[in-house]
Amino acid sequence: MSKIEILNEVKTFLARKHGHFIAGKSYVDEHEARIDIINPATEECIATVADGSEASVALAAQSAHESFKNVWSKITPYERSLKLNKLADLVEANADELAQLETLSAGKLITIAQHLEVAQTIIFLRHFASCATKIEGKTIQPSLPSMQGEQYTAFTVRQPIGVVAGIVPWNFSLMIGAWKIGSALSTGCTIVVKPSEFTTLSVLRLAELAIEAGIPEGVINVVTGLGKTGQYLIDSPLIKKVSFTGSVSTGIRIGQQAMQNDLKRVSLELGGKNAAALLSDVNIDEILPVLIQSTFVHQGQVCAAPERIFVHQSKYDEFVAKASAVLASMPMGSPLDASNVFGPLSNKPHYEKVKHYLNLAREKGQIISGGEAVEGTGYFVKPALIKVDDCKDPLFIEETFGPLISVIPFEDEDSLVTMMNDSRFGLAASVWSNDMSKVFRLIPQIDAGSVWINMHTFLDPAVPFGGMKASGIGREFSDAYIDDYTELKSVMIRF
Ligand code: NDP
Repeated sequence: MSKIEILNEVKTFLARKHGHFIAGKSYVDEHEARIDIINPATEECIATVADGSEASVALAAQSAHESFKNVWSKITPYERSLKLNKLADLVEANADELAQLETLSAGKLITIAQHLEVAQTIIFLRHFASCATKIEGKTIQPSLPSMQGEQYTAFTVRQPIGVVAGIVPWNFSLMIGAWKIGSALSTGCTIVVKPSEFTTLSVLRLAELAIEAGIPEGVINVVTGLGKTGQYLIDSPLIKKVSFTGSVSTGIRIGQQAMQNDLKRVSLELGGKNAAALLSDVNIDEILPVLIQSTFVHQGQVCAAPERIFVHQSKYDEFVAKASAVLASMPMGSPLDASNVFGPLSNKPHYEKVKHYLNLAREKGQIISGGEAVEGTGYFVKPALIKVDDCKDPLFIEETFGPLISVIPFEDEDSLVTMMNDSRFGLAASVWSNDMSKVFRLIPQIDAGSVWINMHTFLDPAVPFGGMKASGIGREFSDAYIDDYTELKSVMIRF
């Protein structure tokens, strides 16, 4: 067991007085309050960032607006593609620094920060770069009457919406920040990103790398701060679209605020209470490593991770015994130690929220294994398996976004589908079985934007991602995101 060394460039970066990132450089307003960035493994303050005021937000929006009008909307799609690819190169070249920043501020295991977050950020940026040159309209032949031999044709063009506000949660700041940046820049939009107050640093560093990549100043701006800073951004008349990833409650508030601002465009990627269904033929020993990894990656703080596990009654006891044993054996400790597979929760309010759910379960005698908060420094909680008898149990209804899974047996596929769909959420689900006839009958019945078979929590830039029901509006990735970042203009010609 050995912790990795913190890089000198990371130490230097942390020691800076961080401002917002506006018009290509750091902007510090000495009157703004400061927010402490706390390392969740040690509870030490590692840096401070500004709590963005309305005035700073206005400057950032203005900078993005001017860059949109004068620069970014004027360059060719190929140039946009080249610059996004260059940014991906620089993320690759600075991968260790970015991974350490994520680990220090989000408590993400260094292995996950390196091999998932930073690695995926590179892959996603390259995907968005490739989309820049593939934005298309279509030609249409209208059926209008021709009195004197005149003819008609029509075509559609997709035009960038303008300045996008990208509001990002704390669980994968760098990667989700890059999703917003890549989507906006590839379609010709500029952006103001508002990262979470807890995990701001990697996004600030990404914006600096963008300047090094030759992305003109003002195309990517970052304003730091609390939820209020996000509200200022949505209210800015220069912002034409809000792309939000976060909780359902905040998402609904943001959607309402955007609608009240002259129907500002909005896409929402929200939470889930994702189901995994283990059918009667599953081999528990075979699936358990993949299921546990998908469930507890980043301590379960993943929007698409399963929280409700439905196990066919014939396999229920075996699953509970074997899953409990695996959870108890997971090495937990410093996220800077590559031999650990479980780290701290990302921030204190979330730690308190997860402990609240665990206390509820403990009071009702539902905890099968794990769930103890670890004494001492840091926001550590042991991964928990919880028994639920009733689908109306709050633990089965509310998103906990933490390292706890609720498990319930089922008898047949009809009752399984009813229970899986008995949720306000519809982000993701999985079915585990080699009986493909059953699997293909289940897929269309499941209310979820993504359904995985014999896997869970895998995102790929070529595959659209987004939620049904209260889990969101819109789709990210593939070419599905393009509609959300562009306006469709129809042109009709008489000749
Ligand atoms: P929140 O909804 O609390 O916050 C998300 C972002 O919105 C943060 O930057 C937050 O700032 C900001 N914010 C808060 N209030 C407002 C407001 N009124 N107006 C504008 N911005 C505001 O989510 P969390 O950060 O706690 O993230 C966890 C949630 O995100 C979970 O529910 C999870 O499921 C969801 N999520 C969904 C994903 C998806 O793709 N579907 C992916 C990842 C997470 P601040 O941090 O300062 O409060």
